[in-house]
Amino acid sequence: MKHKSIRGMEDILPQDAGIWRWLEDATRKNLQSYGYKEIRTPILEDTAIFVRSIGETTDIVTKEMYTFKDRKSRSLTLRPEGTAPIVRAYIEYSLDKISPQLKLYYIGPMFRSEKPQKGRSRQFHQIGAEILGTDSPYADAELIVQLDNMLKLFGLREFTIKLNSLGCKKDKDNFAGKLKKYLEGKKNRLCKDCKERLKKNVLRVLDCKNDSCIEIARNTPNIADNLCTTCKGHFDKVKATLKTMKINFVETKNLVRGLDYYTGTVFEITDPLLGSQDAIGAGGRYDNLVKDLGGPDIPAVGYALGIERIIIALKKKMPTLKTVNVVYVATLGDAAKIHGIQIAEKLRKELPGIIVITDIKEGSLKSQMRNADKNNAKIVLILGENELNAGKVIIRDMIKKEQDIIPRDSVIKEIKKHIEIRPPEEVEPQ
Ligand SMILES: [Zn+2]
Ligand SMILES: [Zn+2]
Repeated sequence: MKHKSIRGMEDILPQDAGIWRWLEDATRKNLQSYGYKEIRTPILEDTAIFVRSIGETTDIVTKEMYTFKDRKSRSLTLRPEGTAPIVRAYIEYSLDKISPQLKLYYIGPMFRSEKPQKGRSRQFHQIGAEILGTDSPYADAELIVQLDNMLKLFGLREFTIKLNSLGCKKDKDNFAGKLKKYLEGKKNRLCKDCKERLKKNVLRVLDCKNDSCIEIARNTPNIADNLCTTCKGHFDKVKATLKTMKINFVETKNLVRGLDYYTGTVFEITDPLLGSQDAIGAGGRYDNLVKDLGGPDIPAVGYALGIERIIIALKKKMPTLKTVNVVYVATLGDAAKIHGIQIAEKLRKELPGIIVITDIKEGSLKSQMRNADKNNAKIVLILGENELNAGKVIIRDMIKKEQDIIPRDSVIKEIKKHIEIRPPEEVEPQ
């Protein structure tokens, strides 16, 4: 019997691992330059943590979590998002004592049992950043500035930052009352799910993807027009700072997020390169979550990005991600093979940053050339008996499709002419 990976849980294969590693490295460097520190929490948590934080009536909790009982009948859940576990750890280890304003980031897998489709796996990966310990609008602004900066560093240019404010808990409750009243009159045009939402979690109607609900949502009262003076002042400062920093954003007055814990500033990043599933990330304030999970009254703001989505967008920008620093050493016959191994060692030693691949299968020249192509080699060195006896080697540029016979002792000098020498992890996909 042939085994297969579980539906919606994908392998990251060698041909893709490079771009993943590049993205993760670039993320770490960028976040660390803003003073963020990494945190790694377990993949499994008590189910109650997610129910209490994300919200009992949200889609994630009611339909999408991987929840199961362990051998002692405890209810455990594979984390569907990263913020709640971080808040759990923050409270458990009193991390507020480390620094009154703590900046944390994480990179790792999350799990949601949704219908698998392009850019939506059941095991997916997120990059997330959180600032705990301040309710300042400048924290929201700096977080968005950093996010904008990092996405541009990845090579993304066409993304949109949609921005809104939900207001404080009180504003949210007031608005929910107004919205409910408004929607009651249009109840029979709402989808089945939204009829339920109307009773339990009316704000989520604004997030519905059903055409008729989108149509109704277009004319509802706006959440951003119902903020108290404090919340409006906060939001104005966020917007003014972003404008000063020349960050492009689109104020989207009915943007709500799928998680109950958000209050105040919320935002969503979309990129047209992704087509209809165009969100690559989202975030916002969660000033009550630390307290709601049993900790001190500490405000916070954060975001999460989907790595799979970013990689889809990057790949659309660069359909051929050619490696520029691979040298393949093709050899024919035992004597040439041994010489080839020596040349390869010399290249690795004297030109750090290049990747040298030798024939370890004793294939024909044709099959070696094919192998060189599959490894995206820019340069192939060809060494047969004739070249060996003459002290020469053939050097072939695979992109220009030109070749030359050169003395063997000038190999390093010649390769330098053809190849860009950069460490492989710095070969940017752009
Ligand atoms: Zn308010
Ligand atoms: Zn609906």
